[in-house]
Amino acid sequence: MPTVNIDGIRVQVPEGATILEAARRAGVWIPTLCHSPAVSEQATCRLCLVELERKGDSQLVASCSYPVRRDLAVRVGSPKAVRVRRGVMQLLLARSPESAELKELAARMGLAGTPYPTVTESQRNCILCGLCVAACEEAIGASAIGFAGRGVERVVAAPFRAPSEACIACGACAAVCPVGTIQVRIHEDSGEAEISPFKSRSKLLACESCGARMVSVPVAAQMMKKVQTKMDWEEFRKRSRLCPDCRRKLAAAALGLGQGEIRKE
Ligand code: SF4
Repeated sequence: MPTVNIDGIRVQVPEGATILEAARRAGVWIPTLCHSPAVSEQATCRLCLVELERKGDSQLVASCSYPVRRDLAVRVGSPKAVRVRRGVMQLLLARSPESAELKELAARMGLAGTPYPTVTESQRNCILCGLCVAACEEAIGASAIGFAGRGVERVVAAPFRAPSEACIACGACAAVCPVGTIQVRIHEDSGEAEISPFKSRSKLLACESCGARMVSVPVAAQMMKKVQTKMDWEEFRKRSRLCPDCRRKLAAAALGLGQGEIRKE
């Protein structure tokens, strides 16, 4: 196994592991935004740049995607690496100045703001990391969103920037968005979930017992398709009509137990 020397801490990692994984094993913090175990490596935000020592010289590499194939010496806390990462963060802050998540990470990096002007309203609040696009395509298989436009006009959007019929309102894009720009908005009046800012909407299932809103109808349909070979179809349909709380109550009643005696999922 190759050895990585990170700021003087030596760790062994399996060949092919990334510098980021090695740093985590060594207990060295490297900021990241576009890294998620849920999808393939994006290496787009450039916040995880580190200095790689090479024959008396050094080069900056994205630690999330640089594979360790032999012994390496890496500097995470060198003045150059810290300066470059802070510069990247200032550019990201200019794109997404209101993001609480970004401000928190910036503060951890010793930054309170950015000297750069914020981008125009249409590009605002998205750092173009691509995690949402990857999650929608790789994890969900919906491919409801993608990159549109070029250069400074580049944005993440649904086709024709209109609500996408392919969107199942699963919320995966919102879950992975590192700056909190993508949100799932629940419209109680219409019983729908809206994926903002893409404007896609889907009806939500309501618990047949208490009326609580649950997953979207297309997500429930996908779940049913996936599990029908493993579980009795009618039984699954019956259970999926109830929210977790009501399912617990039903199970407790069936077993003659108090409600608190069945653990929350
Ligand atoms: S909510 Fe829609 S756009 Fe977001 S990941 Fe799910 S299917 Fe894709």
